Amino acid sequence: MKIAVIGGGWAGLTAAWSLLQRGHAVALFEAGRSLGGRARRIHSRALDLATDNGQHILLGAYTETLDLMRELGLDTGRLFYRERLSLQAADGSFGLRTLPLPAPLHLLAGVLGAQGLTLKERLRLISLTTSLRRHGWKTAAGMTVGQWLEQGRQSPQVIRSFWQPLCLAALNTPVPDACAQLFAHVLRDSLGGPKDATDVLIPRVDLSKLWPDELLRRLNGQSSPGAGLHLGHAVRKLHACPSGIAVDGQHFDAAIVAGNVPSTSRLLAQLEAVPDSLPYLDMLSDFDFLPIATITLKLEHPWQLPQPMLLLHDHPARLQFGQWLFDRSALAARETTEAHLPAGHIAQTGTASLLHIVISDASALQEHKQDDVVAAVTAQVQAQTQRFGPMPRVTGHDVIVEKRATFAARPGLARPTVATPWPRVWVAGDWTDTGYPGVLEGAVRSGRQAAASLLRSLA
Ligand SMILES: Cc1cc2nc3c(=O)[nH]c(=O)nc-3n(C[C@H](O)[C@H](O)[C@H](O)COP(=O)(O)OP(=O)(O)OC[C@H]3O[C@@H](n4cnc5c(N)ncnc54)[C@H](O)[C@@H]3O)c2cc1C
Repeated sequence: MKIAVIGGGWAGLTAAWSLLQRGHAVALFEAGRSLGGRARRIHSRALDLATDNGQHILLGAYTETLDLMRELGLDTGRLFYRERLSLQAADGSFGLRTLPLPAPLHLLAGVLGAQGLTLKERLRLISLTTSLRRHGWKTAAGMTVGQWLEQGRQSPQVIRSFWQPLCLAALNTPVPDACAQLFAHVLRDSLGGPKDATDVLIPRVDLSKLWPDELLRRLNGQSSPGAGLHLGHAVRKLHACPSGIAVDGQHFDAAIVAGNVPSTSRLLAQLEAVPDSLPYLDMLSDFDFLPIATITLKLEHPWQLPQPMLLLHDHPARLQFGQWLFDRSALAARETTEAHLPAGHIAQTGTASLLHIVISDASALQEHKQDDVVAAVTAQVQAQTQRFGPMPRVTGHDVIVEKRATFAARPGLARPTVATPWPRVWVAGDWTDTGYPGVLEGAVRSGRQAAASLLRSLA
């Protein structure tokens, strides 16, 4: 079959790969000039170097993403820095590290040994997680993470140090609003999974190099007429015909629309109404989005903090919005010891002296002048890292605010399936009903599901 995939984010690319693997001809249309969507390499003009459009991390639980990379012949051990879950506050006020023991003892021992929590707080944290596991990782319908934590009698200190950073990192939705059931799914697959499911994977290379660049090569390598990659092509017109679908006038047997919610909705709305198409479109109009900001500071020289990833305590009233701190030079230091990449790879790419500060649910930040925020966040990092000695001088910075970073994961949000009411049209994206929040693993699962559903229907 000849299939159009519209959108070259991780969902569309996964769908394209699944179809290529099964011998179909794929035409991939991507509006942007590069592949990867929200998780892609960009050129930072402010710093004049290649960086990502936002710092991303993966978990050991992202099994479908890691499998896909292996299927493409890529060495995940080389592409990621991988370590046991370690939540360490930069200011030393909190620390939790899983131990090298079989699951679930690795976590149990980690929580029991956590610094900065009283014994009662540690026991209540264990009790809440154990109770969730006992209930098959199910929470009450319509419950928020805030309500779930209150019911589990979690103290403000545990919420601030442990649950809130996890909830924001996974759902990009504040604790009082976030859907407890979606959070429970992430906990089931990470904290409740095998011991390496809680591992944190930090890309050593830029996000496009992780695997989108490899897929680009394969898409361009197809020989069937009409198949290939159309970069910089924003699809404007979909038209259903009896034997397939026309995409900007080109005929295909079927299409997978893998744009974000608004662009997918605009394209689907052009198709003739069929039974159930109106409720399907209504469902798409119910989505709401939240931003994520990444502030990058370029230092005079690499800092080499003891860990590549540290927790920051935010103080929004003082514009100190930073939640996570990533030090590229700490990654560079580990690279040489692990010898997966040529020594100095990160240094060669010019990124070793970069710090990335991540701010999820960044709505409040958008109300302030960027320069004021950068000054406040720089002061925040300096104050909270004092124990590591003075921070090298900042010689440049960049701020990326992705306004529609992810959908707001609130309880009761109905998410569409990958099969649409229109014959020969499927959708893919982290926003489809994968059981996951808006994360890379959700996008990959959605892409796989869309390709599988299409092939099942048209076989
Ligand atoms: C700053 C930031 C940090 C994040 N951090 C993490 C993290 O640490 N871990 C994690 O797992 N997830 C993280 N995420 C979420 C993750 O990036 C997304 O879940 C994932 O990239 C979504 O992929 P997707 O393919 O569903 O959508 P997208 O990446 O949005 O892809 C959609 C693509 O479709 C294209 N398109 C749209 N309309 C058309 C059209 N008409 N014609 C052609 N092309 C079109 C767009 O240009 C885009 O490339 C983060 C997101 C952001 C923004």
